[in-house]
Amino acid sequence: MKRIGVLALQGDVGEHVTMLESLDTVVVKVRTPEQLESVDALVLPGGESTTIAHLLVTAGLKEPLGEKLRDGFPVFGTCAGLILLSSEVLDGRADQWSYGALSVSLRRNGYGRQIASFESPIEVRDVGTVAGVFIRAPRIVAWDNGVEVLATLDHGDGRGEHPVFVRQDNVWGASFHPELAADPRLHQLFVDSL
Ligand code: GLN
Repeated sequence: MKRIGVLALQGDVGEHVTMLESLDTVVVKVRTPEQLESVDALVLPGGESTTIAHLLVTAGLKEPLGEKLRDGFPVFGTCAGLILLSSEVLDGRADQWSYGALSVSLRRNGYGRQIASFESPIEVRDVGTVAGVFIRAPRIVAWDNGVEVLATLDHGDGRGEHPVFVRQDNVWGASFHPELAADPRLHQLFVDSL
């Protein structure tokens, strides 16, 4: 059975744990480099990207995770987790860093402040329709050819379609929160890729 870690520094850790436990996996809450070493893949939850980034440094996890990402370690980031994996963060804090493991530029809170949280059905390639829960979600505004776009959303604000679920080799990202919808299919997709 695969051992899936959930980075457990801040954010909606419990929801990911519950989702993964419903699949055929062993779930490990990751707070230390030793725990990181013990898993086959890692989920980065939603939450507050600047807080999680800060805690990755203080936990001594920033460098080990960066090295593993470069070596092809599978990671799935949702919302703040996607921000942490991206190559460019627009409207981030001046000192905000990210791993650059997923070649996307995104804008924090890029779906607007007034309508900062919403739900929308999302059509995912090879999966079908899932419920997309967006909470102060980042908007992917540019991406490289190497990024597979697995789902897009037209938010109806005249800006056209933007990717909301993407994959680049070992790195997966969703701008919404599949862990908050009672539907494990996207987690299953990630686990099946291992
Ligand atoms: N806007 C948050 C951030 O910048 C992400 C929100 C979320 O994960 N729900 O970290």
